Amino acid sequence: MSETEYLTFSEFLVNAPLYQKAEFSDEVIEYYADGHDENSRFKIRIKMSYFESVDVYCPECGKYSIFGLDYDGEDTSEPGGVYFYTIVYFCSRNSNHFLRFTLLIQEMFIQKIGQFPSLADLNSYDVKKYSKVLEKKYFQEFTKAIGLAAHGVGVGSFVYLRRIFEFLIEEAHQIAKSHLEWSEDLYCNARVNEKIGLLRIELPDFLVENTSMYSILSKGIHELSEQECLAAFPVMKLGIEMILDDKLAKREKEAKQAQATKAIQELHGKHSVKAK
Ligand SMILES: [Zn+2]
Repeated sequence: MSETEYLTFSEFLVNAPLYQKAEFSDEVIEYYADGHDENSRFKIRIKMSYFESVDVYCPECGKYSIFGLDYDGEDTSEPGGVYFYTIVYFCSRNSNHFLRFTLLIQEMFIQKIGQFPSLADLNSYDVKKYSKVLEKKYFQEFTKAIGLAAHGVGVGSFVYLRRIFEFLIEEAHQIAKSHLEWSEDLYCNARVNEKIGLLRIELPDFLVENTSMYSILSKGIHELSEQECLAAFPVMKLGIEMILDDKLAKREKEAKQAQATKAIQELHGKHSVKAK
């Protein structure tokens, strides 16, 4: 892991999983003596020019916000040249909302050893709405998967997504079965990506047009590498979100129709009363 994997120091702060070590140059970390006599000790600081405001989801505001640096400083230094460093950012909308990061710095290596709010909270912002259309058990697994992936856990996070994806495909299958032209034999003998094609009436077009993305689903758990899973994670997550977006839209449409039907009935009721 090197600083080149994170474009900026702020990006490292916000996106790095806990305990991952990143090497930064002495351009970023500055060692300095706090005095001129024999009692002076070495302190560290991260150069101010490396701090920029960060644009992240604020769980308190419930939307994206710009966070500005409020405080940075070395908390304590331990024997062996280990330093603990705390950085606090405040939400530009409300100064009671903050992001706090604790770093462990040794030589040119930085490890993020603590953060609040958690990476998972910062990353699960856009999925809360799906709790309305996804069974509780699967919704919990969805947020768990996002949290695991945020911590660099590939296979584990992927297994959760795969279960949710398969559950949603099965839901679509149950509806499709009632169609007159449906062939259950054809479906049962098809590969996963072919099944998605057969369910085209019940699934979002994008998913159906890009079924090759899901060939990874045909692989057994033991064949999957950690890296392969992390790489496939965003694609699987998007596929799940697209199915759920469709469900949300359908739900909204049905609610509007019910509202309109009720309004028409009420109107009709008033008119009939008048007519009497
Ligand atoms: Zn806020």
